[in-house]
Amino acid sequence: MECVFCRIVAGELPVEALYQDDDVMAFRDINPLAPVHVLIIPKRHITSLAALADDDTTIIGHMVRVANQLARQEGVAEKGYRLVISSGEDGGQVVPHLHMHLLGGRRLSDRLC
Ligand code: AMP
Ligand code: ZN
Repeated sequence: MECVFCRIVAGELPVEALYQDDDVMAFRDINPLAPVHVLIIPKRHITSLAALADDDTTIIGHMVRVANQLARQEGVAEKGYRLVISSGEDGGQVVPHLHMHLLGGRRLSDRLC
């Protein structure tokens, strides 16, 4: 298996799961860009936002619900946080398995990009 996030889902690369259920998993980013930097991923391999089928979009709502719950757990819900999904090369996506970044714990840049 080549996909690094599929390997994490399969337990081949051990991570501390902050959350998981049948469909979604969350763990800390290995290279944190903020005091709180968590990745929320679907367990099923979906390459990117662009690869989402029309009937797949419920997974995004599920990921947002999990991210909001983790933001509360991590203590950033009140002061604020940012959810980011990059898609494709120009979008800055490096790992080709859909993932949402939860960033918080410091004042993030006013610039979106
Ligand atoms: P993106 O640039 O949106 O594709 O983000 C990919 C993210 O995955 C980066 O922030 C990496 O630091 C993170 N990452 C890559 N490999 C791992 C890993 N094994 N465990 C945790 N985070 C990882
Ligand atoms: Zn994958």
